[in-house]
Amino acid sequence: MPAASLTLHFEQALLPAGWRQNVRVSVADGRIAGIAEDAAPQAGDERHAVALPGLPNLHSHAFQRGMAGLAEQRGAGEDSFWTWRQVMYRFLDRLTPEDVAAIAAQAYVEALESGVTRVGEFHYLHHDRDGAAYADPAAMAAAIAAAAAETGIGLTLLPVFYAHSGFGGAAPTEGQRRFVSTLDGYARLHEACGKAIFGLPDSVLGMAPHSLRAVTEAELAELLALVPEGPAHIHVAEQTAEVDACLAWSGARPVEWLLDHAPVDARWCLVHATHMTGAEARRLAESGAVAGLCPITEANLGDGLFPAEPFLAAGGRFGVGSDSNVLIDAAEELRWLEYGQRLLRRGRNLWPRAPGESCGMALYRGALAGGAQALGADCGIAPGHAADLITLAADHPGLAARVGEALVDGWIFAAGRGAIDTVWRQGAKVVSGGRHHAREAVAARFRSCLARLL
Ligand SMILES: [Zn+2]
Repeated sequence: MPAASLTLHFEQALLPAGWRQNVRVSVADGRIAGIAEDAAPQAGDERHAVALPGLPNLHSHAFQRGMAGLAEQRGAGEDSFWTWRQVMYRFLDRLTPEDVAAIAAQAYVEALESGVTRVGEFHYLHHDRDGAAYADPAAMAAAIAAAAAETGIGLTLLPVFYAHSGFGGAAPTEGQRRFVSTLDGYARLHEACGKAIFGLPDSVLGMAPHSLRAVTEAELAELLALVPEGPAHIHVAEQTAEVDACLAWSGARPVEWLLDHAPVDARWCLVHATHMTGAEARRLAESGAVAGLCPITEANLGDGLFPAEPFLAAGGRFGVGSDSNVLIDAAEELRWLEYGQRLLRRGRNLWPRAPGESCGMALYRGALAGGAQALGADCGIAPGHAADLITLAADHPGLAARVGEALVDGWIFAAGRGAIDTVWRQGAKVVSGGRHHAREAVAARFRSCLARLL
């Protein structure tokens, strides 16, 4: 529930114009009603040292939190994304909506405790165990919405259309039966998803063709006609095998094909976009779409490294996602964006574009703006926006004696999730002292769910 009214005072706060001192933020009905800079604290203010806007997580498959760390055993042949996917298909085979609600709540508690205030749920586990639609086709989406309501995280729901197992309309496999829909079935599902999130304040409904493997050109056009507005997300060019298959099918690479055949613009988020030529990276940047980067998962799955240099040089927009949720830590997600590039290019401070610019700030402000764009959400601590705020624990050793942008560098490179102190969602305090108010109850339910499943 949004907080009715309160006033917060911060010694330092990151506002859209930059770091400011002695900032008073008044909140009414979950939104920021006013901001005063260089303002002394007043009686009744809740006082904290360092505030930032909460970070959006633009790409999550919440149920995969339940299999985190369970695909790290060497198999008989060569392990890859594709063998990991078999483990994932076996894990989800038995999940009920109650299981998904329990696992998603755990993922969302961990996300909030790491500084994330909104999640983009790329939701493709729709149907019952035999592949038939539930009586309520959005029963699984309702489980996601219940987890968001319980934990307080902002939700952008992206119901996925999934119809094929490979390029050119190949028939889906048995392991994909819980994902697949006809276009008519998807239209019913999408409408039901809207009802499932109706009671969630400031929730957003988008849509998501799963990938070019799962959707034909004609289906993509029909989806865009069915859902003409709101966020549109798609997985693309995550694996080299996908690039090779797309070239064999069409003569074009996946991002190239998508830019040539779909009206890719600022409503779009291309998730991963790992394997692009420099020309593709520049065209994607120029489209205004967001690149949805998930560096922890991309490392875990052995995907490859995003071509940051041509993309950023062309002004490309990006955000971060926790994707498989193998480990949930917003700071680590941002750190690995930069570290991947350092290892690849044997240099340092590669994400900032200007001399003197803080690397942590370039990562944070970019991911804040791109994440908000991709999720159809507010961006930053400003009047009228949702009061989605986080504070850093100024006494954390990784933040000692730091001011302004050095705090963000300290958080991302020297501290991590342990530096998050308080999180407000729509002005309601959901995390204090680094702990979510429902942490114990959610974790107990998660443990008993996994004990049954495993
Ligand atoms: Zn994904």
